[in-house]
Amino acid sequence: MTTIADKLHKVRERIAAASAQAGRPADSIGLLAVSKTYGPEAVREAHAAGQQAFGENYIQEGVEKIAALRDLPLQWHCIGPIQSNKTRLVAENFDWVHTIDREKTAERLSAQRPDGMAPLQVCIQVNVDGGPTKSGVAPDDALGLARAVAALPGLRLRGIMCIPEPAPDFASARALHERARLVFEELQKAGLPLDTLSIGMSADLEAAIAAGSTMVRVGTAIFGKREP
Ligand SMILES: *Cc1c(COP(=O)(O)O)cnc(C)c1O
Repeated sequence: MTTIADKLHKVRERIAAASAQAGRPADSIGLLAVSKTYGPEAVREAHAAGQQAFGENYIQEGVEKIAALRDLPLQWHCIGPIQSNKTRLVAENFDWVHTIDREKTAERLSAQRPDGMAPLQVCIQVNVDGGPTKSGVAPDDALGLARAVAALPGLRLRGIMCIPEPAPDFASARALHERARLVFEELQKAGLPLDTLSIGMSADLEAAIAAGSTMVRVGTAIFGKREP
């Protein structure tokens, strides 16, 4: 049987190979292990194999896991949609949020972040392929939202996150990720001090790294297939 440690090792090798191919240092790309639907024991196993940053989509599930794993020095990233009635749970429990797509959500997180905690590290979610039903702001609205978020206390704007539609091959996956990089660079040129381009998942992390990803979010390739 392949263990979580084995799979994590393979993912790290993929990241190293893709970054070498792109002429980038391997440590310029962070690995976020997406543990959604997997229990605290799976997270413990990944932590024992050297992984510290974990991503969760479902707020309630994430908060329970965070509570069950308080004894470990882990970093928790919220990568799922956030309804208004869940912002307090996110503000009080997570270290990062990748899915800011409205000023209202950011304002609530800012107001609800407890005083004693480090600022919540946040990314704006940008919808780079224009799908009408998908979350994320349109690329043209990213700068306005980013400026508003950057001004809020209790939050620290780090970058952008995108989830493009699955692409049939490397070249088209890379082309979609390049759109994300263009938005990212545009915000940097506008003077926002951003360092995080959160793109790439199990199936397309090589294409995302070729396009400039600084953080890949990997679930299936580390923990296995999820039950639907
Ligand atoms: C589930 C999920 C991932 C991980 O996807 P895999 O294909 O399992 O690697 C990454 N990002 C987001 C936002 C997700 O919801």
